[in-house]
Amino acid sequence: MDLSARVRALKPSSTLAVTARAKALKAAGVDVISFGAGEPDFDTPAHIKAAAIQALEQGKTKYEPCAGTPEARQAVARYMTTRHGLPSGPENVLISCGGKHALYLAFMAVIDPGDELLLPAPYWVSYPEQARLAGATVREIPAGVENDFKITPEQLEQAITPQSRVLVINSPSNPTGTMYSPAELKALADVVARHPSLIVFADDIYERLVYGEDPFVSFATLNPAVQTVTFNCLSKSYAMTGWRIGFTVAEPGLIKAMDGLQGQMTSNITSFCYPAVAAALDGPQDEVEKMRQAFAQRGAHIHRRLSSLAGIRCPRPTGAFYVFPDISEAVFGKLDPKGRLLDSAAAFAESLLEHAQVAVVPGEDFGGPDQIRLSFATSLEQIDAGLDRLEGYLASLKQAVSR
Ligand code: PMP
Ligand code: GLU
Repeated sequence: MDLSARVRALKPSSTLAVTARAKALKAAGVDVISFGAGEPDFDTPAHIKAAAIQALEQGKTKYEPCAGTPEARQAVARYMTTRHGLPSGPENVLISCGGKHALYLAFMAVIDPGDELLLPAPYWVSYPEQARLAGATVREIPAGVENDFKITPEQLEQAITPQSRVLVINSPSNPTGTMYSPAELKALADVVARHPSLIVFADDIYERLVYGEDPFVSFATLNPAVQTVTFNCLSKSYAMTGWRIGFTVAEPGLIKAMDGLQGQMTSNITSFCYPAVAAALDGPQDEVEKMRQAFAQRGAHIHRRLSSLAGIRCPRPTGAFYVFPDISEAVFGKLDPKGRLLDSAAAFAESLLEHAQVAVVPGEDFGGPDQIRLSFATSLEQIDAGLDRLEGYLASLKQAVSR
């Protein structure tokens, strides 16, 4: 069948692809150690499951208001008001099928063809693809390993053009695991404030998984002159990736527009999941804290081990559950055990999976061609076993002889 130009130009999600491949190899009996999956290896807390089970048993199995039940929207509004200091009401909230669909709806609601997305690189794989689907062109703002993958206010100022419509800020970041300090974010917000037509998409989904010196601040609270759309979800904080619950917090006009779009696409999310929103956000947070501490410990450990490898440069993770080491010096230009030249992160990831049965996501689709992403949402034992294999594999590489 002839497919549209739109989907022919689309890059499928490489994070989902690596995760699926590692799972398939495991199912086929291959002893794969996967650093691929961007999802917590914990189970959803029992009291959140209980809320959904009860709703199901009570027959909450019908259509609900497209933007979410009043109770669930109110719970998100309360959360934003009390936890993040952003006064919000239900009219500021739309509940969607994961943070991913929330972002897609927002791009569709504000982008016209020819508008520009300003995208600090490295970035999460879906931002450029979603923005392009909405007709945007993408202008990357490169943030190097030497600055912990963070852009500066000067870089931002220089990148802005009359076409610039949306800037994405994702702190803590997928794929880098680093985050901006409150002062750094404020400096970026002050630049944006001088360009009133620019909207910030603040992807705050890792806000609870923070373990460095800097506290999390909600970008939307930094400068009242900046138009900010905030995205969050229950996926990562509450180990609920499969539930597909995400939300947008923004001014009511945008929420209405996104509600209209959602009404033609998916309608409400799964009806009996709504009570889980208040259960998660208002309920006990002790399990979230346990997960946060586990990620802090694993992040410190994997960083220590990666940093001890010759030629690998890796900023310390302070949030989320990813590290994004630069492998260019240690790997590029070398030959793998089959004599293949390793000249890209993709070639390295492919060879590492084949020869050491370790799955990582190559950095190209994150806008980081010299890096690979490792998710440490896995046990310390698996991290050690995987790093042992990586170390052995690196030692087996040979310098290519140039003739
Ligand atoms: N933003 C970022 C930065 C992510 O890493 C992800 C997914 N892993 C999402 C958004 C989408 O989250 P969800 O699973 O809730 O759709
Ligand atoms: N976002 C997670 C990741 O980066 C899950 C996969 C996806 O949605 O891209 O691995």
